[in-house]
Amino acid sequence: MTLRYAMALFFAVMLTFVAQAQTRPAADLIVTNARIWTVDKARPNAEALAVLGDRIVAVGSAAEVDTWHGPKTKVLDAQGKLLLPGFNDAHVHFVDGGDHLSAVQLKDAASPEEFARKVGERAKVTPKGEWVIGGDWDEQKWSPANLPTKELIDPVTPDTPVWVNRYDGHESLANSVTLQLAGITAKTADPAGGEIVRDAQGNPTGILKDAAQELVNKVMPPMTPAHRMKAIHQALDHAASLGVTSVQDMNPSYDDVRAYAELQEQGALTIRIYAAPMETGWKDQAKVGIRRGFGSSLLRMGAVKGYADGSLGSETAYFFDAYSDAPDKHGLLSDEMHPVSAMQQRLRGADAAGLQICIHAIGDRAISMTLDMFTQIEKTNGKRDRRWRIEHSQHMAAKDFVRYARLGVIASVQPYHAIDDGRWAEGRIGPDRIKRTYAFRTFLENGVRLAFGTDWSVAPLSPMWSIYAAVTRATLDGKNPGGWVPEQKLTVAEAIEAYTVGSAYAEFQEKDKGSITPGKLADFVVLSDDIFKIPQASIKNVRVEATFLGGKLVYGGLE
Ligand SMILES: [Zn+2]
Repeated sequence: MTLRYAMALFFAVMLTFVAQAQTRPAADLIVTNARIWTVDKARPNAEALAVLGDRIVAVGSAAEVDTWHGPKTKVLDAQGKLLLPGFNDAHVHFVDGGDHLSAVQLKDAASPEEFARKVGERAKVTPKGEWVIGGDWDEQKWSPANLPTKELIDPVTPDTPVWVNRYDGHESLANSVTLQLAGITAKTADPAGGEIVRDAQGNPTGILKDAAQELVNKVMPPMTPAHRMKAIHQALDHAASLGVTSVQDMNPSYDDVRAYAELQEQGALTIRIYAAPMETGWKDQAKVGIRRGFGSSLLRMGAVKGYADGSLGSETAYFFDAYSDAPDKHGLLSDEMHPVSAMQQRLRGADAAGLQICIHAIGDRAISMTLDMFTQIEKTNGKRDRRWRIEHSQHMAAKDFVRYARLGVIASVQPYHAIDDGRWAEGRIGPDRIKRTYAFRTFLENGVRLAFGTDWSVAPLSPMWSIYAAVTRATLDGKNPGGWVPEQKLTVAEAIEAYTVGSAYAEFQEKDKGSITPGKLADFVVLSDDIFKIPQASIKNVRVEATFLGGKLVYGGLE
């Protein structure tokens, strides 16, 4: 080899290296001809996006994004349809939700007779030894709206245990078989934070409220691993079909988390899960050093969830003033709040360990007491970016908005509840308190961040229904077409933001999720209609045409 030839070869090789360094890798996927609402204030609108691996690498005009086009790039035409970041539901009960999809459906039972007939039909086909569970009944659809009793269902369920819940999960009905299995009689005392509803003679009616439900839950046969997996698969399919790409799972059992981890190993997890187990077990996470947001992009932990009170529907939400229709009742603090000092001590420990704290509080007094606890914990443990969350934050005391914002508490709220409870809430709490009920606008005006979710299976998992609820506040009974407490309505853009960036912030993931921004995970959805342009009353009917998780299609498809 001559020197000149060697030099030429050397330069040729060098040139190839330089050329390669200047060619960036091509995208795996380009979605073009879309109307992209990015939820990124730096660039709110775009036409196309490019994905490499599981991340977005480019967002812009079709021409800008086409510079990422390579020989193996797959290109999809969104046909001008609206493309949004995948929805992140900040509050679900994922396994229960999946399980309830195949349980007896009682929510639409329009009368006690229909309720009893459906329970009886399900009992007939339930194998011996198994229970009839779920149901999600709603007695507010009946007139009069009386709670169901065991007498209603005993004749059609002589040997099958029945344990069907009100749709809010704060009270359930047991038949006589179940009461017997749980050993509940007229002599059984009400547990702290719960109530065994009794008839005039003092006998249990079958309705157990809040903590009293534990008396039955603890004698229920445990969910088998196969049953749990079936429920999760149902939940995954349902979520993908609705464009939900992330969920924040409240109070999962450790068995649930184990099942999610197995699915992650198999590459079968088609949603991102942030699991927040019960606060009473905070030491389990703390002792191995798990802190907020710990884990992979698909499965994370590091939060704990607790309860301060019950629900409005069950009259167990805890208020300063009595219920308007029950002047002797203020609601109930949860059993975890007996005593409050014990709750505060656990939460202080969890906070010191770096865990995120999410507290269910619905009544104004329960919310206020939760803010008191947060204030005390901040005093003891010092200031930092904690992102406390009050789940539901349903009925605010006027005095509490300012300190709610000052503490940096996130309002983790469920708009569907507003159009559901709005049917009857005023009867329960009167005309003044409803002004600060699901007060989304007032929260925003006070600088409080919103994170949207559904509380599925308490409410439908559909983001379209939730957005419809937040922007119309039109109650389900059709009686408030202009909106119930209309001054609290949000715009479509605000509702989308709370469902994407808002809920990502609530799980410390706003750098990775929540908007269509280069560098973030490629989770996005394409909708059948443009929810910014159609009449707002039609938003609930909009379908998801395609759901992408990390750039992979998990539901539907584009031509
Ligand atoms: Zn919940």
